Amino acid sequence: MSAPSSKLDWLQQEADTLRSQGLYNTIRTIDSPMGAHVTIGGRDLLNFCANNYLGLANHPALRDAAKRAVDEYGIGPGAVRTIAGTMSLHVQLEDRLAAFKGVEAVITLQSGFTANLATIPALMGGTDDVIFSDELNHASIIDGSRLARAQVVRYRHNDPDDLRRVIRETPLTGRGMIITDGVFSMDGDIARLPEIADIAEETGLLLMVDDAHGEGVLGRGGRGIVDHFGLHGRVDVEIGTMSKAFGVVGGIVAGKQLIVDWLRQRARPFLFSSAMTVPDVAACLAAVDLLERSTEQVDRLWANAEFLRKGMQALGFITGVTQTPIIPVMLGEAPLAQQFSRRLFEEGVFAMAIGYPTVPQGKARIRVMNSAAHTADDLEQGLEAFAKVGRELGVIPAR
Ligand SMILES: *Cc1c(COP(=O)(O)O)cnc(C)c1O
Repeated sequence: MSAPSSKLDWLQQEADTLRSQGLYNTIRTIDSPMGAHVTIGGRDLLNFCANNYLGLANHPALRDAAKRAVDEYGIGPGAVRTIAGTMSLHVQLEDRLAAFKGVEAVITLQSGFTANLATIPALMGGTDDVIFSDELNHASIIDGSRLARAQVVRYRHNDPDDLRRVIRETPLTGRGMIITDGVFSMDGDIARLPEIADIAEETGLLLMVDDAHGEGVLGRGGRGIVDHFGLHGRVDVEIGTMSKAFGVVGGIVAGKQLIVDWLRQRARPFLFSSAMTVPDVAACLAAVDLLERSTEQVDRLWANAEFLRKGMQALGFITGVTQTPIIPVMLGEAPLAQQFSRRLFEEGVFAMAIGYPTVPQGKARIRVMNSAAHTADDLEQGLEAFAKVGRELGVIPAR
């Protein structure tokens, strides 16, 4: 037996390996609200990292709603909803979201991640069941599928022909479901959902879309990808999050009443974990109010994204296949992307480098996240910093 003090040696080695490969994450500490600018280490930085698409993370209407609700209902839900009862606020949010999205019913969970862990195992129960999954689906879909203990068959990214092929080649004796992200977070491309919905109908498979990056972004006034494509009633389950465009936290499962009712009976993160807190729910209700009242924030987000993407392209940057406010500035190798990000930081711009294994080798990038909170000056400042660093590092031609 080795000495007790050595039982974590393996972990030290693993961490050291990550550090030596430059893959050990250092997390920045933010000393301000999450906004178009943030304060880091006493410095003001232009923020291109957050999924705070509509600038709601520090919006006065959401802050006020949260404060008022705390005075009326307190903070926490006390226990899981099936045991301690459910607060009228949570029911109200679910009803409002269902009406907003044009679905029969909604159930909320603690997060988008949990919504996947709740939904997939509740619908795909056994070893006979098969999940057809886009190869670039989010980690929470992968983990939810593992928990379901179903067979997972991956198809080529956003490729309906390959989806048809794998369905044809997979013998199915149990239930089957197709799952895709709505917006793919690293490239900003949108799932070819109309074709995928056709396939689901032709084959009788359930269809689930995780619209985390589309909620509050795509569709009329931010109603999501199903609204964007006019596919109401043709997608069985929509997963959403209130941590991105909604600026708060919380998961959404939207769809048929029968499915949502079933999740109240069988979804383990619903049955065994407490609900969203009071201020979260109240702030999300205020977000729905804002989105229903006006499309101003959503329109500004898209206008900002268009301006910034065109500006980047005019400078000579390659921005990939994006169709959404996610702008990947493609750089190639990971060390270059990291150096680019560090130099931007020195120039007052907070923008993340993303490399392998989050994206394929040789496809490292800076991912620029747009927000309705950015002003025209912010976008100019961002473009100037990218131009300066891009020329300095030889990514774009000198003037
Ligand atoms: C961000 C994201 C999630 C997780 O959402 P949270 O509410 O932050 O847990 C799930 N799925 C996809 C596709 C996402 O992009």
